[in-house]
Amino acid sequence: MKVLAIDVGGTAIKSALVHADGTIEDFRELATPPVIAEGILEAAKGYNDYAAVGICTAGLVDYKNGVVIFSSAALGYHDNEPLAEEIGSVVGVPVVVENDVNAAAMGEAMFGAGRGCSDFVCLTYGTSIGGALYLNGGLYRGSRNMAGEIGHVATHAFGKPCPCGKRGCYSEYASVTALVNEAKKINAAYDSGRAIVAHLDSDPALLEVVQTWAHEVCVGLMGVVHTFDPPRVILGGGLMSDDGMIQLIRKALPDHILDSYSSVEIVGAETGNQAGLLGAAALAMEAVNRA
Ligand SMILES: [Zn+2]
Repeated sequence: MKVLAIDVGGTAIKSALVHADGTIEDFRELATPPVIAEGILEAAKGYNDYAAVGICTAGLVDYKNGVVIFSSAALGYHDNEPLAEEIGSVVGVPVVVENDVNAAAMGEAMFGAGRGCSDFVCLTYGTSIGGALYLNGGLYRGSRNMAGEIGHVATHAFGKPCPCGKRGCYSEYASVTALVNEAKKINAAYDSGRAIVAHLDSDPALLEVVQTWAHEVCVGLMGVVHTFDPPRVILGGGLMSDDGMIQLIRKALPDHILDSYSSVEIVGAETGNQAGLLGAAALAMEAVNRA
């Protein structure tokens, strides 16, 4: 089986055919146009013989009905856009749409660090923190397609204001942006996750900042681990591809989780910068297998 995977981002629409073993073929990329559906149809041109289309996108998505409820203004969707229907009526095969964080978790389940695991929580650390729940062998989406918003669970009462309008949210303390903001207080050159990883071994002050951040990460993991008791938690985002970061988080974890949960595995995501495409492909394959 092969499916067409489409990853809609703010700057580019990436597309490729993906085989059942995760092999990616005929990768293409085009600049994201003002009308997203037109861009997706343009991206789909020239691909043949695929069983289904999987699309992942930023925003709030109603997976069951294939509708993008809303997304950031940077992406040109209209509210409640029936994307699966719009694309499906042209390509003539089943189309599934899901938000990028849930898609990434599906990609990990089928092709990455979640293989062989029927329950895990997937957290993605970047400018904010995204979360997805994979429970009993499938995504748990909640009643409003909004389950897994762990980035907006408060870890500090009366804490920093968050763009969501509340205070003390996990994202404001444990995202990569939060880490970079603290690291820049030591040295303005520590302005990205990459710069921080590069200087971690040579600057003890930076290491201390990262260790404090690792505890902030673990406070969020405490909630997740104590609530869901998963055998595994998968940490994604560019910074978490560094094994040293994962080690620092593992080291801080026992201060926060109860001993009874100590066998939980904390692992880095494996699909990396292909998380979007492999996630979209995994969703399309799941839809075909279910049909
Ligand atoms: Zn918030």
